[in-house]
Amino acid sequence: MTRRLTGFQPTGKLHLGNLLGAMRPLVARQHTTDTIAMIADLHALTLEHDPATVRATTLEVATVLLAAGIDPQRTPIIANSQIPEHVELHYLLECTTGFGEAARMIQFKEKSAGGGPVRLSLLTYPVLMAADILVYDVQQVPVGDDQNQHLELSRTLATRFNARYGETFTVPEGVRPESSARIMDLAEPTRKMSKSASSTAGRIGLLDPPEVIRRTIGRAVTDAIGVVRHDPQHQPGVTNLLGILAECTGREPGEFSSYGALKREVTDAVEDLLAPIRARYAELSKDPGHVREILAEGKTRVRPLAQATVRRARAAIGLLD
Ligand code: ATP
Ligand code: MG
Repeated sequence: MTRRLTGFQPTGKLHLGNLLGAMRPLVARQHTTDTIAMIADLHALTLEHDPATVRATTLEVATVLLAAGIDPQRTPIIANSQIPEHVELHYLLECTTGFGEAARMIQFKEKSAGGGPVRLSLLTYPVLMAADILVYDVQQVPVGDDQNQHLELSRTLATRFNARYGETFTVPEGVRPESSARIMDLAEPTRKMSKSASSTAGRIGLLDPPEVIRRTIGRAVTDAIGVVRHDPQHQPGVTNLLGILAECTGREPGEFSSYGALKREVTDAVEDLLAPIRARYAELSKDPGHVREILAEGKTRVRPLAQATVRRARAAIGLLD
């Protein structure tokens, strides 16, 4: 079976974009694809962070993944920090990466541009991502536009390592997520909805209570045109709402006489989708020990793969066994 890896950073509250763009497609393929669901807690340390928050968010993300229907018997859920081979392979891949190659990554440039202190790990972030992928001989990685360049680097590093030191890694292929969903920020509909965006005004959290969801959608930015039409260029806000509606209901939206009517229908559709997830989350949260066990089981299942890859890579690059 084809092996895939999908990653989630515990950098904040999971949102509707994460559900429609990543979690739901993963759940839909659980019977036909061998996917590893990875919480990238190591990646959450590349920017200013609070230790207790990262720990709590890692457990929260794992719980939401379960609540959204990921079956851990089919899809191991892991945290990359709990499997030390990720870090070990990261170093071997750092020795395969040029400084300039890392420094020209757009995300590094963007995230380091603020003028504040920049962690060295922000520069090497895509190398760790390459390790996360290569360590499991992953064949396919669903990637949105924001991760294309990083996946390309993973491919380059795998190919280079194989050419220099002998066949060691599977070269991963990037695949477009099945759902065309790229959910945009409701307050700034030209930017994608993001966990780490500073304002929460445009974000629908998967665990938001119904009244917050209603308020967020009610305040979604539209335009002065006044006609409900799919027109990403001139009506990005309305187009995003139509897209959300189509994704949530699984059918093409009908006609709407006003933005208010559209927003009411979007609110109902989002609420229908999220209510069961919220309920399962509340149930699962009663037993945090269970979620930790799921992570431990995930680790037990996948670690032998990681160990085998690191053994191969160590031998190839010239280290003693
Ligand atoms: P951050 O701002 O910390 O990068 P994020 O919201 O981009 O957070 P990630 O943890 O980077 O979330 O991504 C988790 C998964 O969700 C990835 O597969 C990513 O492609 C997908 N995803 C993230 N944002 C959206 C979105 N707005 N629409 C659709 N899919 C998304
Ligand atoms: Mg992201």
